Amino acid sequence: SSTRSSVVVIGAGISGISAAKVLAENGIEDLVILEASDRIGGRIRKENFGGVSVELGAGWIAGVGGKESNPVWEIAAQLGLRTCFSDYSNARYNIYDRSGKIFPSGIAADSYKKAVDSAIQKLRDLDANCVDDASKGTDQPLTPKTPIELAIDFILHDFEMAEVEPISTYVDFGEREFLVADERGYEYLLHKMAEDFLFTSEGKILDSRLKLNKVVRELQHSRNGVTVKTEDGCVYEANYVILSASIGVLQSDLISFRPPLPRWKTEAIEKCDVMVYTKIFLKFPCKFWPCGPEKEFFIYAHERRGYYTFWQHMENAYPGSNILVVTLTNGESKRVEAQSDEETLKEAMGVLRDMFGPDIPNATDILVPRWWNNRFQRGSYSNYPIISNNQVVNDIKAPVGRIFFTGEHTSERFNGYVHGGYLAGIDTSKAALEEIRKDERKNENQTFLL
Ligand code: FAD
Repeated sequence: SSTRSSVVVIGAGISGISAAKVLAENGIEDLVILEASDRIGGRIRKENFGGVSVELGAGWIAGVGGKESNPVWEIAAQLGLRTCFSDYSNARYNIYDRSGKIFPSGIAADSYKKAVDSAIQKLRDLDANCVDDASKGTDQPLTPKTPIELAIDFILHDFEMAEVEPISTYVDFGEREFLVADERGYEYLLHKMAEDFLFTSEGKILDSRLKLNKVVRELQHSRNGVTVKTEDGCVYEANYVILSASIGVLQSDLISFRPPLPRWKTEAIEKCDVMVYTKIFLKFPCKFWPCGPEKEFFIYAHERRGYYTFWQHMENAYPGSNILVVTLTNGESKRVEAQSDEETLKEAMGVLRDMFGPDIPNATDILVPRWWNNRFQRGSYSNYPIISNNQVVNDIKAPVGRIFFTGEHTSERFNGYVHGGYLAGIDTSKAALEEIRKDERKNENQTFLL
């Protein structure tokens, strides 16, 4: 027989941990956290590579220096997390063609402006088409064709649309971004949050309310409560569930709901896109790329869109580490996840030899994260279609009976970001607390009547 908890929180990423912390701070002592993997952190994850800590998932605290303060930045500052300012503005002047020549700054700036203008035009057309079909067929934006146009289009669309469309993160919290470069990792922030309400000793969480390696497979829910079943045959009873699994997991068949989720819910879940974003780390015996702050980011222009386009050297974050990072997204991410790391290494070296010549040394190590094939993630972060109304996010976030939903994908303003997950966790647990209080009042009244 299993005991019944007030709340079972599913997932121990930033949103699950922040949700559980708020519950604990509000007197909910009998909560249980079920995490599928063998660690807390979820998409915040460091790994030791080439002698330093690299971040396989979230790397930046995005949205700093504005009129409002980013809560994740505040926590990081309190903890003294080491960060480096990232200046992307020069990346457009470090665009290499396949023969290793850097595009003159004039051409690069022109192509950049053209791409931004064309993207803005495209958005306006989309908007117009939504409102009024008759206005279709206004100036068709030029589709990017040349390698430099493709490279810029990739940067603009597959990373963020900040220069095309205002993003709440930058509007509210500021336009600066800081790379976390701390040996303890971005996840140190999460461990510290967990320590506030879970029993820990020597940096290890020993609290029996956190259960690792518990893959939730079924949620059976009724007016009276929720029965949670895990892959290893355990059963947990709860008054309420807070589910923080990613949008990719919700789209997969990992968790079945009995009764099934209503149509409005599953339709909303299907409407949200899943982005795949892959940072590949390469370790070298020595440095052969230009250094200095305005050289931190560089771009490779190839006729195939998104082919090893966006590069960063780690000399600012970890001087002397001789590490390069290249970022792939979506189709290219999936392609690379499916092939061996040796093949990926060969491709990356080919690209680097195009840019820096045939004599550069081979990488001695490579690290390829696989977020798409991870059944507890199924992608990197949510991406709401540009022309979507708030209804989709509201439906994704809305509870179904006693099951509450949280996670970055439920954040109306900050989906896709760490602070989105953090704030969503707080929001969701507050909503759950309201229901718990209502139940308590009902029970008190009943006792009184008896
Ligand atoms: P998660 O961290 O995914 O937590 C959910 C947890 O649920 C996971 O631990 C998972 O194992 C668990 N789970 C799933 N299914 C089950 C199940 N069936 N049973 C039990 N447990 C389950 N954000 C930024 O702000 N800045 C960045 O620079 C940035 N870069 C990124 C780069 C990459 C490569 C990726 C992948 C993400 C990046 N993000 C970035 C996004 C950020 O990492 C996420 O928005 C945030 O960490 C999500 O937190 P979460 O709690 O919503 O989800």
